[in-house]
Amino acid sequence: MPTAFITGITGQDGAYLSQLLLGKGYRVVGLLRRSASADMVGERLRWLGIIDDVELLDGNMTDLSSLIRLIADTRPDEVYNLAAQSFVAASWHQPILTGNVTGIGATHMLEAVRIAHAGARFYQASSSEMFGKIQATLQNEATPFYPRSPYAVAKLYAHWMTVNYRESFGMHASSGILFNHESPLRGIEFVTRKITDGVARIKLGLASELKLGNLAATRDWGHARDYVQAMWLMLQQASPDDYVVATGRTTSIAEFCRIAFSHAGLNWQDHVVTDAAFMRPAEVDVLQGDPTKARQVLGWSSQTSLEDMAAEMVEADIARHRVRMA
Ligand code: NDP
Ligand code: GDP
Repeated sequence: MPTAFITGITGQDGAYLSQLLLGKGYRVVGLLRRSASADMVGERLRWLGIIDDVELLDGNMTDLSSLIRLIADTRPDEVYNLAAQSFVAASWHQPILTGNVTGIGATHMLEAVRIAHAGARFYQASSSEMFGKIQATLQNEATPFYPRSPYAVAKLYAHWMTVNYRESFGMHASSGILFNHESPLRGIEFVTRKITDGVARIKLGLASELKLGNLAATRDWGHARDYVQAMWLMLQQASPDDYVVATGRTTSIAEFCRIAFSHAGLNWQDHVVTDAAFMRPAEVDVLQGDPTKARQVLGWSSQTSLEDMAAEMVEADIARHRVRMA
C-alpha cells in the first residue's frame, strides 16, 4: 500500500486529494496544525465522509523539525505540499506570514524530504497567480511570470525552489501551476463561494444584497475534484516536470454572478452591489490557461463545466443554510 503525505489536508484540495488517493488504495497521512478549535478543523474531510480514513499528525509548515520528524516517521512514497496562506487579499495584510508559510514553508518541506526520505516524489501547489499581470493572452509553461501580490511572490519563490531542488539534487519534484479551482468546499472568502453562499442566503430570505469588489476581473475556473487528479498524474510520470492545469475558458466575476443567481431563479443585478472594501491594491485582471501540455503528457482534461460547478455550489450552500435554519 503506497503512502501519501499531504500538507494542507484540511483545505479544499487536501480533502479532495485524500478522497482520490483513498480510492486508489493509498495510506493517507496529513499534516495538522494545532488549533484551539480542534472540533472545527477537518470539516471538509468530514463533509466527504473520510475523516476516519486518514491519519492526521501534528506539525506546522513554519516548524522544520516537525516536518523532518513526520517524513522520517511515515516514509511516504509521495508528498503533496498544499499548505499555504492561500488567500490573495489577506496576503497584503499579512505579507510576512504569507512569505513564511507559502514561500519558506515549501522550502521546509523540500528540506524535510531531502534530509529524511529523498526518494519520495514531491508535488508543489503552484498557482496561476504567478502570471499576475499577464505577459501572454493564454498562459502556458513558457509564459514569463509577473506576480501581483505578496501571495503570488511567495508562490513564485516556492515554484523556483521546487525547480531548483529537482535540478540540484535530482529530486522527483513537480510543480503544478493550477488555475483557480472551486467546489462546495472552497473557502467562503473566495469570490465564487462568496457568491454561491450569497445566492443561498438571498434565496432563503436571510439576506437581500451581496457586496463584492471588482466585477470585471476574469478567471479560468475549474472544479477542484478534477484538478487533484492532475496532481496525482504528475507524480506517476517517470520524470518530474511543471504543468499548467486549467480549463482554457475565462469568465468574469459578473458573468459568474449571472450564472449562480440564475440557477436559483434570481437576477444578480437586483442584489449585487460593489464595495470598495473588496478592491485590491493591485489586481490580476485576466487569467486564461493553456492546458495543452497537461492534456498531451498527462492525458488530463477538465471534466466539469462552469455552469455545472456553480449549480453544485449553489445547491450545497442552500442545503447548508437549510440545516442551520432547521
Ligand atoms: P485552502 O486555503 O483551502 O487550504 C490551505 C491549507 O493549508 C489548510 O489545510 C490549512 O490548514 C493549511 N495551512 C495553512 N497554514 C499552515 C501552517 N502554518 N501549517 C500547516 N498547515 C497550514 O487551499 P486550497 O485547498 O484551495 O489550495 C491548496 C493549495 O493550492 C494552496 O497552496 C493554494 O495556495 C494552492 N492553489 C490553490 C488554487 C485554488 O484555486 N484553490 C489555485 C492555485 C494554487 P487549516 O485548515 O488549519 O487552516
Ligand atoms: P484569486 O484569483 O486567488 O485572488 O481568487 P479570489 O476568488 O479571491 O478572487 C478572484 C477575483 O475576484 C479577483 O480578481 C478579485 O478582485 C475578484 N473579486 C471581486 N469581488 C470579490 C470579493 O468580494 N471577494 C473576493 N475574494 N474576490 C473578489
